[in-house]
Amino acid sequence: METDIFFRPDHLMREEVKMFCNTLRDFVNKEVLPHEGEFDAYWDWTEREGPNFVKDLFEKLWIDLGLQKVFVPPQYGGMGGFSMIENAAVILELTRGDHGLAESGFISGGAVVFAGMPVPNDVMLRKFADLLLGDEPYLIASALTEPHGGGAVEDMRLQGAQIRTRARQEGKEWVINGHKLWPSGYREAKMFAVVCAVEGKEFPNNLALIAVPTDTPGVSTSKPYQKMGTSLDTNGDIWFDNVRVPEENCIQEGDNAVKALTAWCTGARGAAATFSVGIMRRAYEVLKQYVDNRETAGKPMKEHGPIVYELGQIASDMISAEMFLWGTLERLDRADIYGPPWEPKQLAMASVCANVVGDCAWRAINRGLELMGSYGYSKEGKMEKLLRDAKIAQIVVGGRVLRVVEAARYYFGTETV
Ligand SMILES: Cc1cc2nc3c(=O)[nH]c(=O)nc-3n(C[C@H](O)[C@H](O)[C@H](O)COP(=O)(O)OP(=O)(O)OC[C@H]3O[C@@H](n4cnc5c(N)ncnc54)[C@H](O)[C@@H]3O)c2cc1C
Repeated sequence: METDIFFRPDHLMREEVKMFCNTLRDFVNKEVLPHEGEFDAYWDWTEREGPNFVKDLFEKLWIDLGLQKVFVPPQYGGMGGFSMIENAAVILELTRGDHGLAESGFISGGAVVFAGMPVPNDVMLRKFADLLLGDEPYLIASALTEPHGGGAVEDMRLQGAQIRTRARQEGKEWVINGHKLWPSGYREAKMFAVVCAVEGKEFPNNLALIAVPTDTPGVSTSKPYQKMGTSLDTNGDIWFDNVRVPEENCIQEGDNAVKALTAWCTGARGAAATFSVGIMRRAYEVLKQYVDNRETAGKPMKEHGPIVYELGQIASDMISAEMFLWGTLERLDRADIYGPPWEPKQLAMASVCANVVGDCAWRAINRGLELMGSYGYSKEGKMEKLLRDAKIAQIVVGGRVLRVVEAARYYFGTETV
């Protein structure tokens, strides 16, 4: 596939990042796509005894290719400091190979966002840097969602009232009790960045983001849930039962925690849109290959008028999604002009972007699947997996209704919803 027919803003990317994208594309072509039909069966890869190829893929990605170093800002010794556009370009390459691989693959970046803004937490950034720059895979999962609702935790208008994972300070320690559900990569994670409600405090002082090593006494996890797709990303329960961590593990507190969490949501909604585009790019390849070779009623399929209409609609959705994605990220990259990522305007923009781009991807892949007839709904046709993954990409990070509500709040001043 020639990626230059898409709209990546190369003029806004550094040469080294473009090279890293090329490296990831080679990795995906040689080591990920040949396994594409096997990933669903490996939803429980973390539970299997002995070595398995999924474990190897993550290790190659994080350590051999150096992705882990990309999460660490250069001033802390890493290769990071990527713009939103550069970050998305890298995520896209991996998502083209597999959505689940990309969800877990990039999740550690979220904890660095918590620590990096609005006021950098130097102690935690150093700690994360030490762990991520080592020779072993080190995944930091962002634990926001709870069994009773992910949207309720992300919705800052609720002022943390719906966060049931509680933290209290006792001497020089934080004590945490609660239950999180679904965090990406939770099963292989070595650290959780946990969104907590602080007991006895009023908003915004009731918010704290706390780092918890997964081997701390009192932490336990379930086996992963078997989802409809995105299988390589493990998602399940985490329980905290009187878990004690040192006070310096608090990544952000109070108003800074509110801003960091909102910035995380804005960035993660940009990532959700990026996942949708990455899945759609793979769907385009699969469909292109199909229509290039399929004959319908005695002539090439793509030379039939009604089918041309469908292909044009798919191309329109692809172009709309890409342009919306890059335009949004370009503005998020210029906080100096457009404002920081914790402002309602940026959150609304990223939320609408995730919804619109997710809808474009869903529509385009659904159309492509229908054009492929029985091959569309068969595993062998490679399209049905992409439709399942595209649905998950539409839901992650708050769900579509909350994202619409955020747009209405900002643009129409809705106050009671
Ligand atoms: C592959 C994958 C990766 C994930 N990664 C992570 C992760 O890294 N960390 C993590 O914490 N979670 C993660 N999740 C969980 C995911 O973010 C949640 O599933 C999502 O936020 C929806 O939360 P929920 O399932 O509780 O649904 P609900 O919150 O119950 O949402 C259901 C519907 O109600 C709407 N809604 C919810 N609250 C409101 C509100 N206040 N106002 C208006 N509408 C509302 C939603 O928008 C949605 O449309 C992941 C899930 C998957 C499948």
